[in-house]
Amino acid sequence: MSDIIQLLPDHVANQIAAGEVVQRPASVVKELLENAIDAGATEIKLLIKDAGKTLVQVIDNGKGMSTTDARLAFERHATSKIKTAEDLFNLNTKGFRGEALASIAAIAHVELKTKQTDQELGTLIKIEGNTIQHQDVIATPTGTSISVKNLFFNIPARRNFLKSNTVEIRHIRDEFNRVALTHPAIAFDFYTNGSETLNLKACNLRQRIVAVFGKKINEKLVPIDESTDIITITGFVSKPEFAKKKRGEQFFFVNNRFIKNGYLHHAVANAFNELLPAGYHPSYFLYLSVPPNSIDINIHPTKTEIKFDNEQALYAILRSTIKHSLGQYNVAPVLDFNRNAAMDVPYSFKDKKTVATPQINVNPDFNPFEKEEKLSSNTTTFKKPNSNEWNSLYVDTNEIDINTIEVEAQVIGHDLFNETESDVNAKTHQIHKKYILSVLKSGVVFINQNLAHQRILYEEFLTKMTIEDTSSQQLLFPVELIFNLIDIGICKEIQSDLESIGFQFSSIKDDTIILNGIPANANQNKLQGLFEELFEAVKNEIPETSFSQLDTIAKSLAKNLAIKNGVKLNNTSQEELLAQLFSCKEPNQSPFGKKTYITLSPEEIQLKFDN
Ligand code: ADP
Ligand code: MG
Repeated sequence: MSDIIQLLPDHVANQIAAGEVVQRPASVVKELLENAIDAGATEIKLLIKDAGKTLVQVIDNGKGMSTTDARLAFERHATSKIKTAEDLFNLNTKGFRGEALASIAAIAHVELKTKQTDQELGTLIKIEGNTIQHQDVIATPTGTSISVKNLFFNIPARRNFLKSNTVEIRHIRDEFNRVALTHPAIAFDFYTNGSETLNLKACNLRQRIVAVFGKKINEKLVPIDESTDIITITGFVSKPEFAKKKRGEQFFFVNNRFIKNGYLHHAVANAFNELLPAGYHPSYFLYLSVPPNSIDINIHPTKTEIKFDNEQALYAILRSTIKHSLGQYNVAPVLDFNRNAAMDVPYSFKDKKTVATPQINVNPDFNPFEKEEKLSSNTTTFKKPNSNEWNSLYVDTNEIDINTIEVEAQVIGHDLFNETESDVNAKTHQIHKKYILSVLKSGVVFINQNLAHQRILYEEFLTKMTIEDTSSQQLLFPVELIFNLIDIGICKEIQSDLESIGFQFSSIKDDTIILNGIPANANQNKLQGLFEELFEAVKNEIPETSFSQLDTIAKSLAKNLAIKNGVKLNNTSQEELLAQLFSCKEPNQSPFGKKTYITLSPEEIQLKFDN
């Protein structure tokens, strides 16, 4: 048989390599920023158009390239950063694989302008799909400008795979933040679609964190500083009282490189162990320096995962350093941190507590159903069942002997579930403040009250977002909430969606959101957590599984506002919940795909007796 193995042509090999290095516009941003830093730049400009799909451009004032190097830079495995395999164990640069520019040039239109300090004129190179189209001598400032246009122009499948601009720009912001946080001494200027989004001056680390996340974060930071033979740790962790319900600002930098490491994360979380309620996460910005030969960065093409030689020792040091710093902070809060009491309750409402607050229900066990009863004449929050479908699920009273139900219900109510207040004539019963039990023609149904209400609210929000039927509870005193700048950006993006379901913003400015109206079923004392969860959900939106941003918002709010398990519901509320659930389009599952109810047929019940 003839031989069949061939070497792949370079451009194909490069396209394959590109698949690993360049997943999305944000990967290009990361690689270009890292090259600019490796070139010794002190000022770096990032320009983005159309979420990077049309243009990603990085301009630096670094050392530039000679004409020969400018051409060579686009070859695969062409790097000035390592020469021998040993160099791999003593890396001081971000790049070293020599793959980024070759990969990017394989799948985009690239234009490079570069000039070294000691030269009069620089070099222009245009390259498309790895073929040089044009080369020229040009006048250009010292440093390098690389524009990457029409990413994935020759791989339509990859291009179509890109997410909405909102999602892609968020990935870019994440990469940008990581680089900006690693290098506070470098000035960054970030433009999106021609307007300046962020201008970061050279500064120290604390100032950089504040510049990226907003000035309120300054008061939340506890400094960390520890030096041992095998590791130096500097940076900040958040004070325990500022912990968030969602993982948000958690950054590890090892030898000036952002990395992800579950093991070290665990060490930090562990140090906070007894200081945080379950489900809360600390923020941290931790800069670790270790001898370059004690780590292996080479295990992932995007270089965000690394292996440490002595992970266990690092774990112990990290954990005890943070514990120690938090301990110091707890002992001497006034001395060290100028505690600002106004930050404890993150809205201005508390200053006005003495004023009478009619109509505002601040009961932490807020129950939307009870509220509905009181307000039933003037709210539109709860739609009435619009079909008889659910009714038909019920036992037709003519068909059965009503006494049978009564007897059954009584037995269950008293002995098994200790529901002394159950109305034995009711069609529904609440069990363990969690399940609603009801008898149907076809057997018995158990409804999970929380999951069912999530489904009801979810469909209600989606309807409201699409047909403008806004009902809102006006707040007597506007509620002020503080967020980081990224979250504020997200809030502006989704503002109109939020307004369509009843939020009213009096302003969204700097790091502050002021609300003067909220949806009828929202609790105004829990808005900070609600928005944190919402922003987190929008940040992590994965469009493959949810059809749009609206959907993400509706899901997050439904989850947050749904009546919790553990809340007692009276019979009217139980019946209403049931009626609403079964008039939903998809009553059988929660917005997150969990079962809202289970049924037991008479046969299944009989089986239990038979066994
Ligand atoms: P790596 O960064 O792994 O070396 P790249 O493909 O990213 O590989 O870059 C190839 C080479 O091109 C680099 O080693 C560097 O010499 C040169 N280069 C890339 N970008 C710049 C820049 N902004 N300024 C100066 N030189 C650069
Ligand atoms: Mg590089």
